[in-house]
Amino acid sequence: MMEELAALREQAEAELRKAGTEEDLLNVRTRYLGRKGLLTGLLRNISNVAPDERPEFGKRCNEVKEDLSARIDQLLAGMAASKRNEGFLRERIDVTLPGRGVRHGILHPVTQVREEICRIFAALGFSVVEGPEVELDYYNFEALNIPKDHPARDMQDTFYIEDNIVLRTHTSPVQVRIMEKTKPPVRVLSPGRVYRRDSDISHTPMFHQIEGLLVDRGVTFGDLKGTLTVFLKQVFGEETALRFRPSFFPFTEPSAEVDIRCVICNGRGCRVCGQSGWLEILGSGMVDPEVFKNVGYDPEEFTGFAFGLGLERIAMLKFGISDIRLFFENDMRFLDQF
Ligand SMILES: [Zn+2]
Repeated sequence: MMEELAALREQAEAELRKAGTEEDLLNVRTRYLGRKGLLTGLLRNISNVAPDERPEFGKRCNEVKEDLSARIDQLLAGMAASKRNEGFLRERIDVTLPGRGVRHGILHPVTQVREEICRIFAALGFSVVEGPEVELDYYNFEALNIPKDHPARDMQDTFYIEDNIVLRTHTSPVQVRIMEKTKPPVRVLSPGRVYRRDSDISHTPMFHQIEGLLVDRGVTFGDLKGTLTVFLKQVFGEETALRFRPSFFPFTEPSAEVDIRCVICNGRGCRVCGQSGWLEILGSGMVDPEVFKNVGYDPEEFTGFAFGLGLERIAMLKFGISDIRLFFENDMRFLDQF
């Protein structure tokens, strides 16, 4: 019986050495140590052992049983540990790696310029107003002293919806609508989309303007000049030089176009400024008395100034963009730069 026990132990250990999985180990345990296992069976037959050898045999059987049991537990624990480690290796997360960047949206460059201009004029006491983009001929032309036969009404330039309805060609109709509803003093800024039949490197059929209007008693051309000087220096820098050039608009008299010293060549002359050293930035003037009469203001009592500028033009100069059409192609590689 003692030899049988020794053989059984050797056999069990050989099987344990071969066991590659948890299942193999559990099978070995069942086969030798289970209730119907081989070792248990040997103990059950202890009556076959000579009575004086029984205590020794029983003791040895229990030793083998405990050894095998401990060995199997140890192997099972080792297997579980390496399985856990494999999991860790597979699912490893390096918490020191930088996170994936969250993509931030940005405001469109034209929107950025619009907001900047609105901020500057808000500080000067102007409030922002808006008007319809589909406009009556009356507000877009007639009330602004642009009669039926005026060249500015050319079909080449204007999108007509019906005979007397147009897509507004400028933001100026908003000043008429505001003056009709408000008594002076008026101090408003009206940004918005405008439409003209035009498309090339510096024109798109839709673009953005900002119109400013100030009406009160005793407003002079000096106020116009001072306001626009403060504004343009804030947008383009304190050292920006300005030039007021006489011009003509049907709804202002006198009228002036305002240039700034070229921001690209600093006045030396380049392609952008057409070698002149100056860039045309906006149109302005004292509100024509005819316009005041159209809205019921007494031109003897009130004076005022108005100005208008293209937002794309300002954005192009500020950001150094050479083609206006880039603003509306929605190419993320372009828009991401601002
Ligand atoms: Zn230049």
